[in-house]
Amino acid sequence: MCCDLKRRFLLLYATQNGQAKAIAEEIWQQAGCQGFEADMHCISEMDKYNLETEKDPVVIVISTTGTGDPPDTARKFVKKIQDTTLPPDHFAHLQYGLLGLGDSEYTFFCNGGKTVDRRLQELGAQHFYDTGLADDCVGLELVVDPWIDGLWLALREALLLQKEKEGMSSSVSAVPSSLPAAPHVVHEVNLSSEVQNLKLEDEGAGSSDVLLQKSVDINLVPSTRDTEPSLVYSVPPVSQSALNIPALPSENIEVQFQDTHGENPHLSSLISEGATFEVPITRAVQLTREDAIKTALLLELDIADTAFNYQPGDAFCVICPNNASEVEELLQILGLSEKGEYFVCVKVKQGTKKKGAARPQHIPERSTLRFILTWCLEIRAIPKKAFLRALVECTSDVGEKRRLQELCSRQGASDYTRFIRDCGVCLLDLLHAFPSCKPSLNLLIEHLPKLQPRYYSVSSSNLYQPGKLWFVFNIVEFPACPARPVSRRGVCTGWLAKLVAPLLHPHRVMLDAKGGRLSNQKISIFARPNNTFHLPADTSVPIIMVGPGTGISPFIGFLQHRQKLKEEHTDWEFGDTWVFFGCRHQDRDYLFKQLRSFLENGTLTHLKVCFSRDSSTAEEAPPKYVQDVIRLYAKDVARVLLKERGYFYVCGDKKGMADGVSDAVVDILGMEMEVDRLEAMKILATLREAKRYLQDVWS
Ligand code: FAD
Repeated sequence: MCCDLKRRFLLLYATQNGQAKAIAEEIWQQAGCQGFEADMHCISEMDKYNLETEKDPVVIVISTTGTGDPPDTARKFVKKIQDTTLPPDHFAHLQYGLLGLGDSEYTFFCNGGKTVDRRLQELGAQHFYDTGLADDCVGLELVVDPWIDGLWLALREALLLQKEKEGMSSSVSAVPSSLPAAPHVVHEVNLSSEVQNLKLEDEGAGSSDVLLQKSVDINLVPSTRDTEPSLVYSVPPVSQSALNIPALPSENIEVQFQDTHGENPHLSSLISEGATFEVPITRAVQLTREDAIKTALLLELDIADTAFNYQPGDAFCVICPNNASEVEELLQILGLSEKGEYFVCVKVKQGTKKKGAARPQHIPERSTLRFILTWCLEIRAIPKKAFLRALVECTSDVGEKRRLQELCSRQGASDYTRFIRDCGVCLLDLLHAFPSCKPSLNLLIEHLPKLQPRYYSVSSSNLYQPGKLWFVFNIVEFPACPARPVSRRGVCTGWLAKLVAPLLHPHRVMLDAKGGRLSNQKISIFARPNNTFHLPADTSVPIIMVGPGTGISPFIGFLQHRQKLKEEHTDWEFGDTWVFFGCRHQDRDYLFKQLRSFLENGTLTHLKVCFSRDSSTAEEAPPKYVQDVIRLYAKDVARVLLKERGYFYVCGDKKGMADGVSDAVVDILGMEMEVDRLEAMKILATLREAKRYLQDVWS
């Protein structure tokens, strides 16, 4: 008992969309097998733990959101530890290990974790284990899995040290310091008759969360040495390997169908972040020509009768449903077509061992099955390995079962990346590829994440057109591929495109023209104010706006706002405004030709455009990308940033563009200031800190 107490550690998670929580739960589950007791809490539950008095090691799993912010659930915690009056030894008693989650395609990679890590260090806390930074861009599991594997030894050593410090070395002998110290608990796995063919090897030295399984009969796998590996086929060595597969996740919830009548909850109940507004779409314009590679739409919302307010540069959220036919298909595969309108009651399973097990917050207490699949679960999510592991148990075909085991095993890690993660395979794709897999509804509710609302940048000014809100988006297209026999559209953009199809205006319609066909289509939105991506308060400072493709969207709002301010305040001073815009073809996807009218009426001082796919007959090829054009105006950019205290805004696709632009700016700063690259990068970092170099980028 005493030993159990000494093996306790505090496990905190700060999650935005459930990833950090899921990883903390994985740690919690493995901890039990390793002989530890993880005292797990959401970091926001500050009444349930106390770092000021915490003696046991602390493990923190924290994600990053927005532009390098800690998740909303960590805001209070971060504010508390950032109190500048705290002494430098405030957390001197604390030993901790931190796992940060992020996406390296964003500028401030893992910044949520880094911020907390840095501050804990400043306050004297010690690492008992190196910080892990996992990258969603290449697969969180590449860092998360080995980090968790190494955690147990580090924890044992930390606890040993703690005991020594406490002068309790007499009891230390109970805790050997080398692996495997914890009682080796092998998970009970229900092996169905088919899997009896898979030989179980008890390799005591392995970590206790895995079973080593070996395929003794290679004919179980429908592939042969000559076949190319795919989602459903494997080849040696994977097909012949003993497999380390994750422990079977416990089932913690149960669902009951109630054949009763009633109403589904209002969509506002799905959101915890504030008020939602159901607003009509009053206009839809296709900004691109039919032959453009991507289709961009502009939608106008009527927010006049609501309390919704925004500033140019803000983003807001759209609550979107899953594709109706995919929901039907799922119902059919689950054998629940008849039960779509049945009310579902989701409860924690009696006797569940999971600590703090609760009904998933994103599932309403009472709603129909169709409502849950349509509005609550991200059915397009890429299935995690734990989900694959659970699906193994619902699969009757031996070959399919083995392949699913491979895909969630350590040996099959690169197959998982190649055939699931990189292909964006979703549950439906898996169910088609593995037709004998028949998961239960509660498994789906347990493993599918919350269907997230989608962010969009406002593309208008409430001063220029009161009561209206514009936004612009590309319809996301996923072409068919071997793992996905049908092409699909993005969840939200595909839905919006279908919704507005009847009122779509061709791109020729002038955006300044009033009116448009009225529609009775409404969507639910809520605010997501951005505190920094705004026009400078001082109108006299110059601004540079870089927005290729749909990245131009917030700058239309900036320019509308500036135009109105200029009209209303003729005595004010207004700094120069620069726009760098780029697209593929001048005549196909130049989204806002209206930029010219801002130029003509003096709102915009400099408009620089480039077209990456248009051929040119000029002797010297024109620049293709915005970053190339920016380099042509190096002296102006340097002057605006360094002499005139101007602002530099970048918006749009994070892939390539944002880094290309910041590289160009670093080169310009280096050249103009005659400093080396490192020094130039420091200057850019200072500009970012001063919020004069601002980015709003998305994938
Ligand atoms: P989803 O279904 O969510 O798919 C989009 C992404 O999911 C893909 O890019 C890919 O990474 C992944 N994915 C899903 N399925 C697959 C698959 N089968 N294969 C491969 N990858 C897959 N977008 C705009 O167009 N305009 C804006 O103004 C805008 N502003 C934004 C502001 C902010 C602050 C943020 C964070 C994002 C913004 N976005 C904007 C992006 C927007 O929120 C959505 O991500 C985008 O519209 C796609 O949503 P979707 O539901 O249609 O696509």
